[in-house]
Amino acid sequence: MGLFDTIHLKTPLLCPACGAEIFDMQTKELGETMSDFRIGSVLTHSPVLSGILKERLWCDACHKAEKPGDSPLYLVIWHSVLAGVEQDPEKAASRLGSVDRLDLIGWLDQAQRRERKWKSRFYHLHSDVRKWREHLAEKDKPVPGEPGESEETKERRRSLRRLWSLEEEILKAPDPLGALIEKHEPKKEDDEDDVPVFGW
Ligand SMILES: [Zn+2]
Repeated sequence: MGLFDTIHLKTPLLCPACGAEIFDMQTKELGETMSDFRIGSVLTHSPVLSGILKERLWCDACHKAEKPGDSPLYLVIWHSVLAGVEQDPEKAASRLGSVDRLDLIGWLDQAQRRERKWKSRFYHLHSDVRKWREHLAEKDKPVPGEPGESEETKERRRSLRRLWSLEEEILKAPDPLGALIEKHEPKKEDDEDDVPVFGW
């Protein structure tokens, strides 16, 4: 078994044999780089610049029922961009001929939103990991202060330190690092246009 790429779809394909909804499909036709693609993705390793690639629809339900079908699927590629995934060859041809500026703007917007989301996720994770490291280095040291300082000033220093440290629920968790990882897992609401991509 070689490598494959996965195409994630917002609108599912329907298995013509059993009616199952198919949101993700795998293909070996796009360069086999273990990448995740959506409509609008640039297919850097695609052998086709513009055209229609014939694939086969894989239905898990049919396969489990030992009734694997052989339903065709058409990948529409427009200037190396995945412009559509169609089950009807005529629809694929018309999609290839109808890509316009609005499609491009939509894909650009989608890519930029995804980029902002990933940057933000990375920034927050990086910041929390840094705080965790500081916490480990500082946790046994006394709160710094001037000799003869009032309790009130000391308390103010402590709360200032707490302000820049990780949340109590993470610090007090049985497995703080695990809690930190959990905090930064992709959220459900991100799924729509931000399928997590781990391990390229
Ligand atoms: Zn099926």
